[in-house]
Amino acid sequence: MAEGEYGLETLAIRAGTNRSQFNEHSEALYLTSSFVFSNAAEAAATFSGQRPGNIYGRFTNPTVTAFQERLSVLEGAENCVATASGMSAILATVMGLLSAGDHVVASQSLFGATVQLFGNIMKRFGIDTTFVSQTDVAAWRAAMKPNTRLLFAETPSNPLTEICDIAALSQVARQAGAWLAVDNCFCTPILQRPLDLGADIVIHSATKYLDGQGRVLGGAVLGRKEVIDPVFAFLRTAGPTMSAFNAWIFLKGMETLKLRMDAHSRSALELALWLEQQPQVERVYYPGLPSHPQYALARQQQKTGGGIVSFDVKGGKDAAWRVVDATRMISITANLGDTKTTITHPATTTHGRITPEQRAAAGIGDGLLRVAVGLEAVPDIQNDLVRGLK
Ligand SMILES: *Cc1c(COP(=O)(O)O)cnc(C)c1O
Repeated sequence: MAEGEYGLETLAIRAGTNRSQFNEHSEALYLTSSFVFSNAAEAAATFSGQRPGNIYGRFTNPTVTAFQERLSVLEGAENCVATASGMSAILATVMGLLSAGDHVVASQSLFGATVQLFGNIMKRFGIDTTFVSQTDVAAWRAAMKPNTRLLFAETPSNPLTEICDIAALSQVARQAGAWLAVDNCFCTPILQRPLDLGADIVIHSATKYLDGQGRVLGGAVLGRKEVIDPVFAFLRTAGPTMSAFNAWIFLKGMETLKLRMDAHSRSALELALWLEQQPQVERVYYPGLPSHPQYALARQQQKTGGGIVSFDVKGGKDAAWRVVDATRMISITANLGDTKTTITHPATTTHGRITPEQRAAAGIGDGLLRVAVGLEAVPDIQNDLVRGLK
C-alpha cells in the first residue's frame, strides 16, 4: 500500500499486511527462530542474497518484516530496520555508520541514555560528540568539524519539549556531507515526518506510542536504502534485533496510533492550559501552547503539540516530590506514550545519571515534572495533580 493513495490512519492499520497460505485476517505471529529450505541450492541462494527469503530470526522474521514495512510507509521511508529497543536503534545507527575518529554534533537536550551513549560510551571507541543547544542553529553550525559525520536531534525534546528546526539542521548537515538523525519518539509519523523535512534518518523508541499500552520494548531506524543497509548489517551480525512477538504487539498498537495521538494531543493541550492557571506552577512546557517559545516552528513542523507536558513547580525538589507522592491514579514511572497517564521527576530519575552541570545546561531544574498524558478523563488527571499542588 502506497502513501498518497491512502490516508495515514488507513496505512497504520493495513500497510505491511502479507497473508500466509491460511489467509488469516489479523497479522500472523511467526514464533520460529529459523526457516527451512527445500534443497541445498535454495539454501545457498538465500544465504547469498540472490533469492529473497527468511533465514534466521536474528535478521529476518515475517512478523518483524510486516512491522518494518508498515512503519516505512508511515514515515515515508525507503527502508526500515527494527531493533530490540529504542536505545539499540541509536546504537545500531552509530555502529553501522560511524568509525573511530568521526565526530558527532548532538543536542544537549536528549533522552538521558542517549546522552550517556554519545557522551560516555562512544567516546571510549574514539567517536567524540559536541553537545549544543537544541534550538540554536548557529551553535550547531559552529560545532561542525571536518570529521563531523552525524547530527543527532530529538524534537520535541525530553522532557522540556524544545523544538529543533529540522529543515535548517538538514541544511547544516548537507553542506558538511553529514547525516541528520531525528529521534521521532514523541511525535510519531502521525504528527511529524522528519524525512519530509530533510532528515536522513528517523529513530524510534517503539516502546512508547507505537505500542501505546506499555507492554514491550522495541525500536526502529528508517531512511534511504544506502543509509539503512549498513545499520542492518550491524544488527544482523551483532544481534539487538526486534523479537517477532514484540513486532506483533507493535502491529496491533499501530492500528490505533492515529486515534490515540489525536486523543493524547487534545488532553495534553487541555491539561497544559489548566496547569498554566495553577498558582503553584511556575512554568509550563508544551509546544501546543502559544506561550511556548517555539510555538510557530512547532505549528509548522508537527500537527499538534503531542502528548507530553512538563512543568516547573514552585519550591524545587520537595514541592515536586509532594506532587508525585500525592497522586493516587497517575502511575509514577518513567515510561511514556501509554494509555495510562504517567508522571516522573526527571532530575532524580531519567536524567539522574548525567552530571548536575549537564542537567543545568539542559535546563532540567529540581522542580520540573514531566507528565505523559494518557487517555483517562482529563478532570481525573487534574484532580490527581491538584492534591499535591495545594
Ligand atoms: C525511551 C526513549 C528512548 C529509548 O528507548 P528504549 O525503547 O527505552 O530503549 C529514546 N529516545 C526517546 C526520546 C525516548 O523517550
